Amino acid sequence: MQHDLMIVDGHVIDSAQGLNGPADVAFTDGKVSAIGPGLDRKAAKAVRSARGFTVIPGIVDLHTHVYWGGTGCGIDADQLGRDSGTTTSIDAGTAGAGNFLGFRKHVIERSETRILAYLNISYPGIFGLGPVTAYGEAQIPELMNIEECVRVAREHPDLIVGVKVRIGYNTSGSLGIGALDLAREAAQLLGLPMMAHVGPPPPRFVDILERLRPGDVLTHCCRPTLSHALDTKGRVLPIAEEARKMGVIFDVGHGAGAFSFETAAAMLKAGFPPDVISSDVHIRSINGPAYSTLHTMSKMLCLGMPMPDVVKAATEAPALAVRRPDLGNLRPGAPGDAVLIEVQDGSFDYLDTVGVTLKGKKRLGLRGTVLGGRWWHDGEAA
Ligand SMILES: [Zn+2]
Repeated sequence: MQHDLMIVDGHVIDSAQGLNGPADVAFTDGKVSAIGPGLDRKAAKAVRSARGFTVIPGIVDLHTHVYWGGTGCGIDADQLGRDSGTTTSIDAGTAGAGNFLGFRKHVIERSETRILAYLNISYPGIFGLGPVTAYGEAQIPELMNIEECVRVAREHPDLIVGVKVRIGYNTSGSLGIGALDLAREAAQLLGLPMMAHVGPPPPRFVDILERLRPGDVLTHCCRPTLSHALDTKGRVLPIAEEARKMGVIFDVGHGAGAFSFETAAAMLKAGFPPDVISSDVHIRSINGPAYSTLHTMSKMLCLGMPMPDVVKAATEAPALAVRRPDLGNLRPGAPGDAVLIEVQDGSFDYLDTVGVTLKGKKRLGLRGTVLGGRWWHDGEAA
């Protein structure tokens, strides 16, 4: 078989196939065409060396805001992809029923990278968040229209993976937990999961958690203060254990205000790591402290999460969370997306959202991205 491209001599980590060792990866017609040690290089039109690098599936960022130009909080998905190896951006409810078509036509269909989306239960999506303003979209009952959410989600089943709602005093306001109940009803009618944002209380973390069902995503799970899965002594709350056992997915969603080293470290210590590592990049977090999922992966690695778990949480796990088992892996036949990473040793400063600096000993440097089976971007300079 003649391959279009072969990435050779790398260390491949692919949790979906249980791979963690030396292997070559070949791509043909936009898809992965072969994987394994010692592939025949003569059978490839182009060969790239990944010697000294780790090769992982294209990063699937479960929590982004990439309705660029359509909303004040949106950032450019392709730029994010070039900067961080994010080949699939899952938009976390930036658009609602009232403006999803513009997102589809003006952004998603024009992007080189793949974009999927949770549809916001609020009709205009996250309309009030920008560099200066922050007005919660889930507090206006007249805009929380279940019928419109369901109608539009049914019109775009190829792109919409679930329903998003943001719960917290500054997002769902006096509607409180009632906003979640509306989103749940819409998700139930659609047969899709829900992504619930847990913000500063009220409502409390546990009020949100007890309403989630198997397959739902709880995002911002490493929040500072006590809006997380642990008690004051650092023990996992029984309700959080129960939710995880039942299939609720705990997602990092770093963002500008939702990631604390203290919480993340305590979760790891308690044996309760996040299922998914995502960035929550938007206009206020893209230039730090979130930057990207790759940057957030570096932070989790420095906190002691093992590299194979870090990779799984940014590839296979988010793909499964949106019911797209074809993504986030390098099985032959899968979309040809892969990332070359250099695991660097040194001293690196990392910042969380409460102003704490972590001196880390590792950093994941981007050394190249394969998108749709072709070499797409070189990554940062070595
Ligand atoms: Zn978000």
